[in-house]
Amino acid sequence: MIYLDSAASTPIHEEVLQEMLPYFKEQYGNPSSIHRYGRLAAKAIDIARKRIAELINAKQNEILLTSGGTESNNTALFGIMRQNKARQIITSDIEHDAILEPCKRLQREGFDVIYLPVDNYGTVDIEKLKNSITKETALVSIMFANNEVGTIQPIKEIAQICKQHNILFHTDAIQAVGKIPIDVKDIGVDLLSISSHKINGPKGIGALYIKNGTKLAPFILGGGQENGMRSGTENVANIVGFGKACYLAKENLDKNVIHMKNLRDHLTSRIINEISHVSINGSMENKTPNNTHFTFLGVNGEDLIIKLDEHGVAASTGSACSVKTQKASHVLMAMGFSHEQITGSLRMTVGLYNTISEMDQTVDILKKVIQELRSVSPFKTKYDFTS
Ligand SMILES: *Cc1c(COP(=O)(O)O)cnc(C)c1O
Repeated sequence: MIYLDSAASTPIHEEVLQEMLPYFKEQYGNPSSIHRYGRLAAKAIDIARKRIAELINAKQNEILLTSGGTESNNTALFGIMRQNKARQIITSDIEHDAILEPCKRLQREGFDVIYLPVDNYGTVDIEKLKNSITKETALVSIMFANNEVGTIQPIKEIAQICKQHNILFHTDAIQAVGKIPIDVKDIGVDLLSISSHKINGPKGIGALYIKNGTKLAPFILGGGQENGMRSGTENVANIVGFGKACYLAKENLDKNVIHMKNLRDHLTSRIINEISHVSINGSMENKTPNNTHFTFLGVNGEDLIIKLDEHGVAASTGSACSVKTQKASHVLMAMGFSHEQITGSLRMTVGLYNTISEMDQTVDILKKVIQELRSVSPFKTKYDFTS
């Protein structure tokens, strides 16, 4: 199998797994216990938290451990809005469902949510942001990089606008971490979400960076762990693994980016040169190094994915989460794509363990599969697929 769906999840790094294993067996203490089992577990969490903080240049006490990216986003939105007097949030049309669904809930609770439009490349409209800010704006939440088309937003500029107006700024950086250098102090962001399983760590663990001095209403109540912000006995093994994944992501960032970019660019240029009636989606300059996203006219993306899977290639139409609900990509719709363009879209995201030879094999399979699908396409008279 050739796995080209790293934006959905990644395999765990061998060194991450090795570092986690003792915490399932010998070092099973509760970090809140006073005895040495407890102290060892607490110490392991300390080290992990430091590593997570270092990846984004945060302080250790600014890292809230969560069950993943979804919880980090929920904590940021509900945590800020439920203790703020101002009643308005500004977000964008292309956010992940882990932002859009909490926003819908907040709207039902009486909050006002503004969704910023994007251009054809998936870049958020900054002028519209400036014009949307009012005295009632409490929070702006804009993703760092999009999970479907990989477009990177002008995050620093957005942070500056928020700062000028004294508004809190959150970013869902789940697709950006490990692919772009991130420095929360340099950006000037107040809250930032990270997920472990997108950077070769275990699933079910993530973090929310909360700049010191930022007030949030706690989300889960109980024994007071995580500074009272998230009660419940810590998932020690997962936290240790997440810490190691962050350490490795920081150590190897440059090397990893070059690797992913090489693979992605090779795959992209071969597809563009060897397959007709294809377009690349998303920004070319501001794109995460692992992402490539196409529209193949006259092809149904879901059929394409099933065919690719039969030939041993794992790809995606976009977000893994939208598959269950079978709805057209809200991201591509916001980018102004026609129904036909959305239908024919394919996302391939590379990771640390892919090889150039896999890219070549993928193109060969893709050419064959697309030709097959197009030969029975209802659009085959509309386009000349033989050209
Ligand atoms: C994967 C992803 C999430 C959800 O993170 P989980 O850790 O899977 O809950 C949220 N936002 C973006 C942009 C993502 O890619």
